[in-house]
Amino acid sequence: MSRVFNFGAGPSTIPLEVLEEAQENLVDYKGEGMSIMEASHRSKMFDDVHMEALALIRELYEVPEDFEILFMQGGASMQFALVPLNLMQTGVAQYVDSGVWSQKAIKEAKILKINYEVVALSYDNIPEILNLNDKADYVHITSNNTIYGTQYREFPKTKAPLVIDASSDIFSYEVDWSKIDLMYAGAQKNAGPSGVTIVIIKKDLLNRFSDNTPSMFRYKTYADNNSLYNTPPTFGIYMLNLTMKWIKKQGGIKALQKANEKKAKLLYDAIDNSEGFYIGYAKKDSRSLMNVSFNIKDSGLESEFINLATKSGLIGLKGHRSVGGIRASIYNAMSFEGVKTLVEVMEKFASEKSS
Ligand SMILES: *Cc1c(COP(=O)(O)O)cnc(C)c1O
Repeated sequence: MSRVFNFGAGPSTIPLEVLEEAQENLVDYKGEGMSIMEASHRSKMFDDVHMEALALIRELYEVPEDFEILFMQGGASMQFALVPLNLMQTGVAQYVDSGVWSQKAIKEAKILKINYEVVALSYDNIPEILNLNDKADYVHITSNNTIYGTQYREFPKTKAPLVIDASSDIFSYEVDWSKIDLMYAGAQKNAGPSGVTIVIIKKDLLNRFSDNTPSMFRYKTYADNNSLYNTPPTFGIYMLNLTMKWIKKQGGIKALQKANEKKAKLLYDAIDNSEGFYIGYAKKDSRSLMNVSFNIKDSGLESEFINLATKSGLIGLKGHRSVGGIRASIYNAMSFEGVKTLVEVMEKFASEKSS
């Protein structure tokens, strides 16, 4: 078997052990005579998986008891609309525009005609919010900007509820829950396959929806029914559970954070030590540990670089269509060896082109 190193931004690489365990149990789940995909979402067989996934998230991510953990569908993109539908009162919502995904969140606020304002804007670094409104209905930020490759080191301290789109860095470092009121993330970057959306919400925010909000659009519906109001994405939740077990086996989130810092350092050092051959996009103090976006000084060489990388078994390195260049996504499941191989190819390419 030959597996590539997949640097794609999402869906993205999944730990081999997780895939192998799923494969082993795909047709006959632990002697039940059927696949977990075929089991009723009301069965004990599935319930064990569902409850274990919730418990592991709470344990490993240290989610306090005053938060609910919900499994939803529709991706982070649906959360862009559900956040205002569930949290908006008569005040204002404040948004930080730190890139393409923030803009998509803002777009939904606009469609819903809520009262919102953009309170900070920057793409190559994490902007500071200067006019935080303590009375705002919520403040929305994107913890990791998947396309530009910037990431918060520390979340802003807000009096208003802080809402975080953590789609591309959930479970990759320890978070300070005292600052957070709602976090959401699609699973397909750091937590398994696409199809499940994880929402972690403070209980005191569950009753803010208005009466004309449809049941499936209310966080409360999911919270009241243990995310089993309707059929949840059962196979995705199973894969999420396996991913959480894998995280535990790695030593938990703190251990992954260390590993992520080490991987990112190796790659950023290669960029910084290339004598200007490679140019990082993000300002140094805002660099993402998850998505490393960079250019080759002579941009005409980028497609040749990507071809060489592909030949070396490194795929998914082409930058997002909106910014171009090169992007290496180095989520939890990307190994140190994968990053090391990428750095070797970068060094070889630079020395060939510079001589
Ligand atoms: C990938 C991504 C999204 C989009 O997620 P979907 O699950 O495709 O809706 C939103 N926000 C961020 C930060 C992302 O990285």
